[in-house]
Amino acid sequence: MRITLEELELHPVVVSKTYSPGALDYHGAEFRQTTPLKVDARAELRGAEIYVRGHLGTSLEASCDRCLERVVIPVERDFDLFYRPVSTIARAEEVELPQDELEVGFFSGDGIEFDDVVTEQVILSVPMKVICNTDCLGLCPVCGRNLNVEECGCPPAAEISPFSSLKES
Ligand SMILES: [Zn+2]
Ligand SMILES: [Zn+2]
Repeated sequence: MRITLEELELHPVVVSKTYSPGALDYHGAEFRQTTPLKVDARAELRGAEIYVRGHLGTSLEASCDRCLERVVIPVERDFDLFYRPVSTIARAEEVELPQDELEVGFFSGDGIEFDDVVTEQVILSVPMKVICNTDCLGLCPVCGRNLNVEECGCPPAAEISPFSSLKES
């Protein structure tokens, strides 16, 4: 769905939309959307910029970085975004943006693609490191067992380090 300058020049655009799992392309990200994504947003012109503000909610699923078990990531995200015409990039680079400024993106052509705005916000709401639990013990580096489920009796990592350094060489 495209929000065009032409329409914004007449009035703010209010969007209320639901995306089923699979409707948005997360560009090969390592998570899945598991429930419908609901988004409510309002776009308006602020000078030459498009200002988009809204909220989205959904549920994602990813693998724990340590033990590889599935982790549910509930997402409730507010966003406040400014999109500048791409023709102003040169100028924007000269003028240093204040650190506390709201998120700024760029658009080219006649407007912004709303689906892309939503996709980006979902990707940004996934933590850099996904772990099932801060106490997650992960997998045993020797036998691969999930240490949250069972102890395997392998020697602690410190004792096997000569072998792992052998493997590296
Ligand atoms: Zn884990
Ligand atoms: Zn083990």
